[in-house]
Amino acid sequence: MKIAIDGPAGAGKSTIARLLAQRLGLRYLDTGAMYRALTLAALRRGVSCADEEALLRVATSMDLEIVFDPETKGNLVRLDGQDVTALIREPEVNANVSLVSSHKKVRDFIVALQKEIARQGCIVMDGRDIGTVIMPDAQWKIFLQASVEERARRRQRELQRSGHAVDLQELAEQIRQRDHFDSTRAVSPLRKAEDAIEVDTTSLNVEQVVERVLSIIKGAGEDV
Ligand code: C5P
Repeated sequence: MKIAIDGPAGAGKSTIARLLAQRLGLRYLDTGAMYRALTLAALRRGVSCADEEALLRVATSMDLEIVFDPETKGNLVRLDGQDVTALIREPEVNANVSLVSSHKKVRDFIVALQKEIARQGCIVMDGRDIGTVIMPDAQWKIFLQASVEERARRRQRELQRSGHAVDLQELAEQIRQRDHFDSTRAVSPLRKAEDAIEVDTTSLNVEQVVERVLSIIKGAGEDV
């Protein structure tokens, strides 16, 4: 069973994909974590996030490991031997990751890794191009959506938990910019696959979204 979860920043993809994988006993991959780890590696090495060739050199030389974390039941990300799971969510990575992921050579490299992981069997993957590029053959394609305001509130809570106080309006603006950048880039832009089912999570809590998606997978759901 392959399940693709796509959608814009803050729509709840990672949380929902992780819980679904847990409930269904499947592997889980947060594909955004790979672009985030590359962004962190580039920032650490003083490489410009606009320099496609230099980014490709970072991508091919970094030691990236994504493993199952029994504590969170999610992905634990190791970069050059260090646990960077929390560091890749820092504001500096947020601000640069969309630019890094927009380069064709960077995507070709990361996409090949992700397709290989998908080829190895049953999995839930979340990202922007899972239903369209990474697993066009997925049995289930879910596109999570939520209003910009709600997504900004969720991001604010997430950042507050890691000790960052960020203005809500500022976050909403950053989300709008990331949506725009991710949806208008030339290479595999964020878009809903034609056969994906859209779920608006704006007024739903995590458990309700998981239940909605499970009911879709079990055949009881309808487009919402
Ligand atoms: O999902 P997350 O917000 O962690 O992803 C970070 C960024 O990585 C996205 O804004 C997008 O630019 C990029 N990304 C992508 N394709 C994916 C996953 C993430 O381009 N499959």
